[in-house]
Amino acid sequence: MNLKIFVLFSIISALLLFIINNPINTSSNNINAADTSLKDKDKDKDKDRDKDRDNCITNLKSLPSDYNIEKLKFVCSLVTSLPSCKSNKGEAIFHFDKKGESKTGLKILAFSLIHGDEPASGSVTRAWMERLPDIAPRNSWRIIPIANPDGWRANTRGNANGVDLNRNFPSKNWEKESLRYWNKDMKKDPRRYPGTNAASESETKCIIDHIKDFRPDFIVAIHTPLGTLDFDGPKLKYPKYKDLPWIRLGNYPGSLGRYMWKDSKVPVLTIELKGENSIKRMSDLDKLQDISSLVAIMANKRSIKNRTTDD
Ligand SMILES: [Zn+2]
Repeated sequence: MNLKIFVLFSIISALLLFIINNPINTSSNNINAADTSLKDKDKDKDKDRDKDRDNCITNLKSLPSDYNIEKLKFVCSLVTSLPSCKSNKGEAIFHFDKKGESKTGLKILAFSLIHGDEPASGSVTRAWMERLPDIAPRNSWRIIPIANPDGWRANTRGNANGVDLNRNFPSKNWEKESLRYWNKDMKKDPRRYPGTNAASESETKCIIDHIKDFRPDFIVAIHTPLGTLDFDGPKLKYPKYKDLPWIRLGNYPGSLGRYMWKDSKVPVLTIELKGENSIKRMSDLDKLQDISSLVAIMANKRSIKNRTTDD
């Protein structure tokens, strides 16, 4: 009997000792779990960033015309992407930021290849990206060189759903006009299909998120092949660029010009290169970037003046 009591006592003591030495501390366990999940998230972010950088080099190298590999490597080491910026097929839509030097500088958002079959447009933003680290720009730049990666891979104007992203922006007249315009005026041209709803496409949503995140004062959209500089903004005396004349092309329901200038008063410069070999024929892509900056500044001054006059 005494032995039984002794054994029982020993077991209870051992149990008590175990509990004392191994306290169940839920709060510290929770903190540890939160730490691990934060670390996992950081790791995921790092992985995403590495992927963006690899994509940047591989994709930009394959665009037409010359590039400088060292500059490209450097600039691609700085790209990132917004969490929501994924193409329909899941490819990240990366971007590059360069902060301006001037306190009164403007914010310029520039993108190309929103139409996937216009690769020369991407060669312009690539050249601008390569240049930006070497200069101290007055304005801040955000550049999205491949806004429609799925279309670019498939060499189609539209995205993977066959939507023309430059007709998919949620302009105020989208509901009323877009599909009617496409049916009647465009005779259901599949290259200009605006989608089932405004901003239905992930690539359109990505650009809208950039507009919300970066809050640009001015947007530059680069296309081919019409060979013009087209401006949706206040009336200006345009600076000359010898390779492309200034011609107003107007805007369409769901187009960026309609959405940003007509609806939100953010000016949009559309650079239409002349044909796919246009880069070789263009003497000076640096100058084209400087002209974009200059027009941004002129448009901003004009808008301020107009606002003051309206008051
Ligand atoms: Zn285009």
